[in-house]
Amino acid sequence: MAQLSDDCFAFGGNLLTVMAALAEIEARVTPVVETETVPLPAAAGRILARDLIATMNLPPHANSAVDGYAVAHADLMPDRETVLPVTGRAAAGHPLDRPARRGEAIRIFTGAPMPDGADTVMMQEDCAVEDGLVRLKPGIRKGANRRRAGEDIAEGEIALSAGQRLRAPDLGLAAALGQRELCVFRPLRVALLSTGDEVRDPGAALPPGAIYDANRFMLAALLTGLGCVVSDFGIRPDREAALADTLAAASAEHDLIVTSGGVSTGEEDHVKSAVERLGSLHFWRLAIKPGRPVALGQVGNVPLIGLPGNPVAVIVTFVVLARPLILKLAGAAPSRPRVFPVRAGFAYRKKPGRREYLRASLKRDGDAVVAVKYARDGAGILSSIVRSDGLVILDEASSELAAGSMVEFLPFSEVIG
Ligand code: AMP
Ligand code: MG
Repeated sequence: MAQLSDDCFAFGGNLLTVMAALAEIEARVTPVVETETVPLPAAAGRILARDLIATMNLPPHANSAVDGYAVAHADLMPDRETVLPVTGRAAAGHPLDRPARRGEAIRIFTGAPMPDGADTVMMQEDCAVEDGLVRLKPGIRKGANRRRAGEDIAEGEIALSAGQRLRAPDLGLAAALGQRELCVFRPLRVALLSTGDEVRDPGAALPPGAIYDANRFMLAALLTGLGCVVSDFGIRPDREAALADTLAAASAEHDLIVTSGGVSTGEEDHVKSAVERLGSLHFWRLAIKPGRPVALGQVGNVPLIGLPGNPVAVIVTFVVLARPLILKLAGAAPSRPRVFPVRAGFAYRKKPGRREYLRASLKRDGDAVVAVKYARDGAGILSSIVRSDGLVILDEASSELAAGSMVEFLPFSEVIG
């Protein structure tokens, strides 16, 4: 009797592992080298091209961390109250115009420079003031409530490293160090297209058998989120010649081409042959679920990543393969998204030999964090991504997952905006 299989992965032949595909990407992708200097507000999300070395101390001067009274610690009685006259005032932006003398207290406010000679600040809540005298409790340690010059970043220190993607706190630090602009890699220019005779733009009429293009809009947002400038090449039909024409046009003035659909083995899948015609294909079948067909190739010298058609597979393969490729191409320092051990709230069986990514949400169960698998598995169930927190990763070796065992969880917040 004929053996039929409903497993779309039953297809034979050698599949490349995810690790091998990442190694291939690492070996083949050469980062862009052009840089530009941009004003600080324009640097958010960009990749720093040179280390930022602090040319000043941060904070620039020793200052008070609280509102209170600045004193020389040596003036304080170790075991009883000390009473000192309040003979000066220092506020933020208004330093005392002389050194502090022994035997006096200086009224001081948060951020005010520490007067020379004072080394400790007593919080005003711990003081009693009367007739120009302040009573200071015993027991405060020397240096309390004083911020030292350079305690945050010392002059000469590397404040931000080349290859870092600049986030809000990074820009804050650069600004605090007096930088008005930063040297960043120029943004990647990415050509994006969808393939498929059935695919239509949202808002267009939907003839029988047609669907709206979800992938191009997801991918444009994912690419923009990584700092790319996206050129929209629209939806291309399932014809090799038309695809080849578009890919050839897209290879001009772009650093990367991203496609979705048309990379499988069917006779309507033409991305692979179009790429082979124009350049070369490095791999296209991976041991990954969802998303087995993922093509890495090049059109001329321009890398191309051909993602699958199913939207869930698009997200998974983008996160796992396209994202590291794009970050490397854009000049980012190597980094892996963080994965976290969580308890599986479900049992699962898989075929050994391929890596699987299961959509799941997190919930608390006492002290533990439990991953709850999304009920519907299909690679076309886009709502499953919308309604999940991230992906449970089951590696190649695993086959049987018992409920309650520990698994690796990749939060979407680590990898998609
Ligand atoms: P393919 O890899 O081209 O065979 O596509 C696999 C599945 O994904 C098919 O059901 C396609 O209709 C669907 N698909 C392909 N492209 C898109 C797209 N841009 N948006 C939503 N679904 C798509
Ligand atoms: Mg198709």
